[in-house]
Amino acid sequence: MELSKRQHKIIEIVKTEGPITSEQIAEQLHLTRATLRPDLAILTMAGFLEARPRVGYFYSGKSANQLLIEHIQSLMVKDYKSRPVVVQEKTSVYDAICTMFLEDVGTLYVVKGQNRLSGVLSRKDLLKAAMGNHELTAVPVSVVMTRMPNIVTCKLDDTLVHAAGQMMRHQVDSVPVVRIAGDEEWEIIGRITKTTIARAFVELGENISI
Ligand code: ADP
Repeated sequence: MELSKRQHKIIEIVKTEGPITSEQIAEQLHLTRATLRPDLAILTMAGFLEARPRVGYFYSGKSANQLLIEHIQSLMVKDYKSRPVVVQEKTSVYDAICTMFLEDVGTLYVVKGQNRLSGVLSRKDLLKAAMGNHELTAVPVSVVMTRMPNIVTCKLDDTLVHAAGQMMRHQVDSVPVVRIAGDEEWEIIGRITKTTIARAFVELGENISI
């Protein structure tokens, strides 16, 4: 975010003289406290200044860059996850391809029982299965999927940066969000995809609040 000339001046005053009260800052700038209030609120919310009751304002010592990094690292999987599209292990490759088109997703998750994650199907997994095979209605997805325990997952309390790092490191387009459901059993409760990361990036760029 672009700071105004006055906001830069306020930061300089607080840097050299803090802790300092809003009255004292206002005096130095020949302004009223009421005029300064929105600037002080912005600078405090953005993390440049800190305010302590009965003490005044002081400089947080954090650069805009540091604040941006902290903000990015505070984005959590639980706030960005989207709905996973799932099929059963016995679903045919043909039906899985139809589901991928109808649901407009690039990855399907395979489950058994009560949403217990057992596999992942990417576009290329299904293409590979379809090449030269004319019996797609007879082949279950369980024979072409990538299966547990080889699936890279993430949890609700992971950061979005961690989930994005997993996708990059393992060169996959998405990671399922899971929670433990028993011995070696994981319930699928969401997904984080490259699109999720692009959305978060656009939100940051368009609506940056620091
Ligand atoms: P595509 O194959 O369409 O390029 P991906 O890069 O996502 O899509 O998938 C590459 C391979 O990795 C596929 O065989 C897929 O089954 C597997 N895969 C996809 N997501 C994961 C994941 N989260 N963990 C482990 N393997 C995965």
